[in-house]
Amino acid sequence: MSATKATHQLTKQHNRDLVLKTIFEHETISRAEIARLTQLTRTTVSEVVSGLLSEGLVKEVGLGSSIGGKPSILLSLVADSRYLIGVNLALNRFIGSVVNLRGEIKRTVEQPIQANDGRKAIQLVYRILDELMKERWKSLVGIGVGAPGLIDTRAGVVVNAVNLEWQDLPLAHLLEERYRLPVRILNDSQATAIGEFVYGDQRPGDNLIVVNASHGIGAGILINGRLFQGDGGSAGEIGHVFVEEDGQLCRCGRRGCLETLAGGWAILQAAQRLPSLSTVTALDALETKFYEGDPSVKEIVLQAGRHLGTAIGGLVGTLNIQRVILNGDMTRFGGPWLDAVRGAMSRAALGRMVQETQLEIGKLDYRACLLGSSAYLLLDDYSLLFLQKEKP
Ligand SMILES: [Zn+2]
Repeated sequence: MSATKATHQLTKQHNRDLVLKTIFEHETISRAEIARLTQLTRTTVSEVVSGLLSEGLVKEVGLGSSIGGKPSILLSLVADSRYLIGVNLALNRFIGSVVNLRGEIKRTVEQPIQANDGRKAIQLVYRILDELMKERWKSLVGIGVGAPGLIDTRAGVVVNAVNLEWQDLPLAHLLEERYRLPVRILNDSQATAIGEFVYGDQRPGDNLIVVNASHGIGAGILINGRLFQGDGGSAGEIGHVFVEEDGQLCRCGRRGCLETLAGGWAILQAAQRLPSLSTVTALDALETKFYEGDPSVKEIVLQAGRHLGTAIGGLVGTLNIQRVILNGDMTRFGGPWLDAVRGAMSRAALGRMVQETQLEIGKLDYRACLLGSSAYLLLDDYSLLFLQKEKP
């Protein structure tokens, strides 16, 4: 292909992605409005839209009002024109769902994880996907996976997921071979961040920090509407940032990581060190005692919240991102815990920066991870949506 032709194709693809993104972001929108928002010419927009119409991705849904001129035809995404699969491997059970282009979950399959056995864990992933694929979804375009641990997204490799006993596992390759679909793998906290960004609270803004506070702790960072993964792919891995001298042993092998103070395992262990709570083995039991007003449980939970808040203050002080969403198992402790997080965050960064920062609990719980991993497929490459060979 000549250089000019290649450039032309790239421009075409760029324009198409821009138009698609704009349609994704609106319930309905006219061609003129797309042109205004994207600053593309009306002719370009019309050309792109007719391609999208013939692909069945977009439909005309009626007339909108127009000031002065004649009413314009409104366009809307056809939510069920394509399906994606999102998988969450970061819980005590594996969950996979088929979702449409608006993030509506169509079908979900779960598998409890029994033993920590890497090979069995892969079989469980297959079982979930086999089950989901049994129904012959028309136009299934890809599989996104949110997995715990260190992930090399570009290579599609789980570098290290201790709990699943996966090391250098080429998961994307394995799934692509088996299912003949594009596969993307993301760290679960990063996937959760994308889920909240795309489908959660739709407040304006291109930057977002999502902190996933479960047994482990991690964050996902979006900057200018894109996932920020850092140079090595592990941006947001705040759970293993050192916090306490001679602290508790962490599952990473070191002592005093944030996770050993602020995560679910941490508060369970802290509770078990007290004679009155030595028999508590699950977060559910701690939650009950917390809401019953048990003062020691309350102190343990709020202390965990304060440690988390200090770490978030560090992120806010570094990045000045004004929207922070909390997700994960620890959010079960609700308002009091959130207040502890917020209070500590306020003390950990400049007043002005923190005052302007909104911190809240997300609404998507475990779904954020699987929705985000499926949405990442598109953010990564809109071309997946095109079934006809007009792929540029
Ligand atoms: Zn650690």
